[in-house]
Amino acid sequence: MRIISSTEEMQAACRELRRQQMPAGLVPTMGALHEGHLSLVRMARSQARTVAVSIFVNPLQFGPAEDYGRYPRTFASDCRMLEAEGVDIVFAPSVEEMYPPDACTYVFVEGMSDRLCGRSRPGHFRGVTTVVAKLFNIVLPGLAFFGQKDAAQVAVLRRMARDLNFDLSVIVGPTVREADGLALSSRNQYLDAQQRKSAAFLYRALSVIEKLAKEGESDTQRLIEAGKQVLAGVPADGAAVTLDYLEIADPETLKEVTNLQSDPNRGAMAAIAAYVGSTRLIDNVVLRPAVAD
Ligand code: AMP
Repeated sequence: MRIISSTEEMQAACRELRRQQMPAGLVPTMGALHEGHLSLVRMARSQARTVAVSIFVNPLQFGPAEDYGRYPRTFASDCRMLEAEGVDIVFAPSVEEMYPPDACTYVFVEGMSDRLCGRSRPGHFRGVTTVVAKLFNIVLPGLAFFGQKDAAQVAVLRRMARDLNFDLSVIVGPTVREADGLALSSRNQYLDAQQRKSAAFLYRALSVIEKLAKEGESDTQRLIEAGKQVLAGVPADGAAVTLDYLEIADPETLKEVTNLQSDPNRGAMAAIAAYVGSTRLIDNVVLRPAVAD
């Protein structure tokens, strides 16, 4: 497994792969790898002849009061895991390598970047689209793999890839969860035992919404209320869950959906973001409304 930190070297290696008709499958990550990341790596392994994983904690997608400084960095063990998965190239540039001091060009997907997480994290999606556009240009992948766990990110990146004519396909892997439903996240390691218990309520709330939708409830306000009631059930002596948003949105446009039956051809997802202590967690489920006879 090659570990490359220079953008120039990475681009040269990947240009050569493209020339040989085997463009890399790219899995962008911020490291602190877990089974969620590895599931994407395995997916890439099965669909692309060469797999590149990027590890880069991208300062541009963190707000000034967010956890950039304390984000877990476990590079050596990440590399061991990736080697065991048969990854060909790890791309791990420094911040200076990705953003020279006079860099002043950004990629921004208008109209979508201020929805869901974008509303409470201004600048977040601009940071994501800028770094991923750079990674696409450096790695020239044929396939790029992202997790459904970050569904809004997927929507924004798909739109970016289409609008900017990147010559690649975006592939989405399912959310990997703990036994109690909590979506795996590098940030879960911030949680103490009590917070960890409360964190499971996010998925519990989404599951109730999913079940009611399947049973025929199509009014999204009622679905959201039902989800909020689940969150209200966090035990009083447990760690509090402070809701940032619980919304039902179109997975492609991220616009709010008011009724699941209003346009049966469009999908819908229930998406949640909440703080457990100071840790911000997100999750979502795709809703499949009841099919009329
Ligand atoms: P991150 O390192 O958090 O930026 O995540 C890198 C990639 O892994 C993103 O495409 C995420 O959506 C994906 N990912 C993170 N957690 C999970 C999970 N629990 N299941 C599936 N994919 C995930």
